[in-house]
Amino acid sequence: MSVSSVDAAVTVLRHAPKRVAVFTDFDGTLAAIVDDPASATPLPGAVEALGRLATSIGRVGVLSGRPLTFLAPLFPNDVFLAGLYGLEVRDHGRRRDEPNGARWRDVVATVVADARSGGPHDVDVEDKGLSLTLHYRRHPQRADAAVAWATDAAQRSGLVVRPARQSVELHPPVDVDKGTALAGAAGDVDAVWFIGDDVGDLPAFRVLEQLATSGVAVARCVVGSDETDPVLAAHADVTLDGPKAVVTYLNELADAAGSG
Ligand SMILES: [Mg+2]
Repeated sequence: MSVSSVDAAVTVLRHAPKRVAVFTDFDGTLAAIVDDPASATPLPGAVEALGRLATSIGRVGVLSGRPLTFLAPLFPNDVFLAGLYGLEVRDHGRRRDEPNGARWRDVVATVVADARSGGPHDVDVEDKGLSLTLHYRRHPQRADAAVAWATDAAQRSGLVVRPARQSVELHPPVDVDKGTALAGAAGDVDAVWFIGDDVGDLPAFRVLEQLATSGVAVARCVVGSDETDPVLAAHADVTLDGPKAVVTYLNELADAAGSG
């Protein structure tokens, strides 16, 4: 991928903004990483920047591992939301759940209860309804124990393990991820941005790479930090230095979209 694809995407943004889609991750991208996941909030100006973009371009979306119950109150209805990596979607204000995911709710509840009663100590269990996350950010030395417990729980329950930033997640064995969420939401556009910071964002970057081969101008933006996985950095057309830089960048995109 060359920088010229980003230039081509910016050209579309300036001259045909309705033919553009911009998607971003949430944690580590629009919100600073915090020890307690429940307390994460979008950076000042982040929601406003997405709102500005949503009024002028074809599609704006947030693709996250968070549940919709967390995301929906934060963003206006014209921002597309994919929660739990696409198991839950809010599209033009309407919620739509992946039908094959919903039947795993009881299994997830059982594994959450197991993790809380007999899971690895010093690991925080986040119940997301249709998935769960074991966070070891506060005790990074517990990473191996968390992954081992999750792997064992996956074998027992039929859930699947997904690595995430300073955490490990257990999901229903349903073929959705940020790539399928992005592909489903982008529609017929000529330019697509995606901004992310984590290995869970890789499927979205890969979908951009597929779109590029069919002539869509793409911009793969990686939010850099001292935790950035080198695999992710290899996919970057644009590197942004933390969520603050993301807000600045989103406003630059909104400026370009409005400058016709
Ligand atoms: Mg993230």
